[in-house]
Order: sequence, then C-alpha cells, then structure tokens
Amino acid sequence: MVRAARTVIVKSVKLSRKVFRVFVELEGMYRNMLEQLTLYASRNIIKSFTSLKTQKYRELRSIYPHLPSHYAYTACQDVATRIKSFYRNKIRKLTEDIVDELQEYLGYNIKELCEGERKHLYRTAYKIAKQQIEYEMRDGVARPCVKRISIWLDDHLWKLNGLTSIRIATHKGWVAVEFGPHKQYWRYVNRGWRLASEVKIKLDKRNRQLIIYLTFVKEVEEYKPRGYLSVDVNENNVTMLVSGVAYLFETNIEKLVLGYYYRRKKIQERYDELYGVKSRVKRKVLKKLKERKKKQDIRWKIASIIVRVAYEKRYAIVLEELGERSANSMIKRIKDKQLRHRIFQASFRGIQKVIEEKAKEYGIPVIRVNPKNTSIICPIHNAPINYNNGSRIGKCSKGGEIWHRDVVACWNLLLKALWGNGSNAPNPVGHTLLDVSPIPLGTKATHDPITLPKGLWARWKSLPQTRFVTILNKMKR
Ligand SMILES: [Zn+2]
Repeated sequence: MVRAARTVIVKSVKLSRKVFRVFVELEGMYRNMLEQLTLYASRNIIKSFTSLKTQKYRELRSIYPHLPSHYAYTACQDVATRIKSFYRNKIRKLTEDIVDELQEYLGYNIKELCEGERKHLYRTAYKIAKQQIEYEMRDGVARPCVKRISIWLDDHLWKLNGLTSIRIATHKGWVAVEFGPHKQYWRYVNRGWRLASEVKIKLDKRNRQLIIYLTFVKEVEEYKPRGYLSVDVNENNVTMLVSGVAYLFETNIEKLVLGYYYRRKKIQERYDELYGVKSRVKRKVLKKLKERKKKQDIRWKIASIIVRVAYEKRYAIVLEELGERSANSMIKRIKDKQLRHRIFQASFRGIQKVIEEKAKEYGIPVIRVNPKNTSIICPIHNAPINYNNGSRIGKCSKGGEIWHRDVVACWNLLLKALWGNGSNAPNPVGHTLLDVSPIPLGTKATHDPITLPKGLWARWKSLPQTRFVTILNKMKR
C-alpha cells in the first residue's frame, strides 16, 4: 500500500471580531512557544520531535496551562521540522561553498577528478561544514528565525463539523469555523479521499479569515507492472520512452527560470533605487510575477500525461535517482551560484517529485535507477557516444549510428531497470516483459524522439494516438 497525499487550501468565512481575536491570541501563544523551542532546540541541536517533547513538554504546559495540551506537541513537531531543514540546508550550502573554495585554492576543476576522489572531497567538505554549523548553532549565532507561522493542529485540536465547517480547540474552548468549499475540495471528498489528522491554519488579518490547509490522503495498492516507462528530465525537456517510442516534451524551464531571474533582478534594482530596499511597491510587483505557479503548472501537466500513459498500460515508471550528476555536472556551466541552484530545483527535483506524487495516487510503482553514464553510452553496443561540442545529437563510436541524447538516456534507464543493475531497481524476473525488449533498437530510424512543443501538449489530458502525433511531427519538419 502506498499513501498519496494532497494539500487543499480553503478559506473560512469572514469571522466576527470577537472570534478572530481568539485566534490572534492563540497565534501569539503559539508563536511564543515556537520561539522558545527554536532557541532551545538549535542551541542543543535537537532535530527529533520526541526528544524535544520529552525535554520541554512539562515546561510548556506550566507556562500555558489554559492552552489545550496538544499544542505543546504540535509546536514541538513544528520546531523539530524547522530545525531539521535549517540544519540540512545550512550544511548543504556550506559544503558547496567549501568545495568551490577548495577548487579555486587548489586550482583544479572538480570534473577532472575521478569519482572516488570527488566523493572524498565532498565528504571532507561536508565534515567541515557540519562541524562549523553545529558550532555556530551551539554558540547561538546560527538559528532559524520564526517569521511566518501556521498553527499546526493534530486530531485532538480540530474536528470536522459537517462537510463545510471545522471546530478548533483553543484556550477559550472549542470554536466552530465555517469555510467556503470549492470545486477542488468536493472532488477529493467525492473521489474517496479522506482527511488526514493534521491540519494547519494561518491567519489572514486583513480580511479576518482563517486559511485552512487540509490534507487529503488515499491509500492505494500498487499493481504489478507489465512493463516499464522511463523518463529523463532535463533543463528544457522531459523525455518519455514507452513501448519503444520516445516522446520529447519541450518545457523550456531553463528559459523560464532565466527570464524570471533577470526580470526580477531588474525590478529589484529599479525599485531599490527609487523607494529603498524594503519598499512595499517592490514586493507587490515581484509578487505579480507568478514564476512558481507557472513552473508548477508545467510540472503537473506533464506528470498527468506520463502517469496516465503508465496507468493505462499498467507500467512502472523508471526515474533517475537524484544525486551528484544533476547537482554538479549538468548545470556547471552557469556561473551564478544562486541561479544554478534555482534551475536545478526547478527542473529536476520538481518534476520528479510531482511524477512520484501522482503515481502514488494511481498505485503506479516507481523505480529509481542510478543515472550514471546514461546519456553517454550506446545501449546497443555498450560503447561511448560522441557528441560534438554541446550538440544533443551524437554518434556511436562503435556502430556509427546516430543518437539523440535524451533518447539514449531513456533507453539506458529502461535497461538498468530491466536488468536490475540500477541501485534501487528490483530484479525484473517474474514480470512479463512484452514490449520492452531492446530489440526495436536494431532499426536505425527509431533513435529520433517525437518532439512535442509546449504549445501542443499543454492542453492535453493524456497522450493522443501515436499515429496522430507522428503525423504532427512530420508536418513540423
Ligand atoms: Zn551503438
């Protein structure tokens, strides 16, 4: 069984001043708890909820005796999560910095090292970073700051009250809050999802409303796959190989991210000059850019198409394991560190995560394989493919056939899943491998993907008939 989860945001009706004040007070107390706990947890480097709870529960209860006791639990959970991600991110960033500095200092390029040496370098940098960050946390120099908060509620602190209202436990007793359901909410209610026990609420002070974050969950049985569909994610496209045919979905994520990056920078410079660094006008303009939403939209659309194809054929989805490759070599050519990080986040982890989430909903097994060398070794001859200066089209050094880089990657991911020599892949013995034999590779014509420009697939719900797509592709040429 796998558990799929989706967050749905609903807004409460406008609350009366009296009721809203209760929540403002509640938020104040909750914030105080968070601040206290954060201070304590970061000084003592506590990342686990249980140890934080054992050490601080009594104290919290005695400071806030009128608050329902479970707020002490959820606050500890909240803080443990904050500390954990703070700790991880800080160390990761510092590790990267140290590696960069070492490269500069020692005067070599990390790409020229062999894998063992590179790993060693990273491990050393990680150790130094860890020591440094822990030292800073103990010293009180580094700690996460509690800025935005949402109040975490567990099953003791809220109850569903009919279908369009919830009751929340506060220091003034139970308070019922009506919310306005929308289409998306009803869709989950009607399609067999159930509400998880955890809920988060935020206060919208200007409109005197609560923003309620509900989580819907669904438990689904994973099916036994009849075959595999492999997916390769790049900066500018997502390529899917299914039953011997490769489809290349153009996403232009790199362009999107770069475009937004420069626009944002320009706006910042202009407004900083005119109104100062912390102006409200600037924030308003920046908010209008909606980069996140656009990226998320692309991700969900591609994921839906891929997942639907896999589900109809009862295939498993093969994805690459995320690791060093995506982080360090692929986008190395972009010098700006912040930008590199953003592109990395935008293109790889994002789409992969959404595909995985969607797959859970349908019970589609997802297999992760090691992506090492997947785009540079010919899947037929097991020989290197030569790509001329940055081209995505290469030539096999043994057979001389022409390959598209992203198609090669898909075939190799598939083969790794089939032979089980990818790190996480199970041995496929026992599965019927009807149409996933590598034999269609023998013909020379199949190495070209069917390219789908963004304007075309963006409105699709699933993949149209192959013939239709092929015709489209031919027309384009
Ligand atoms: Zn070859």
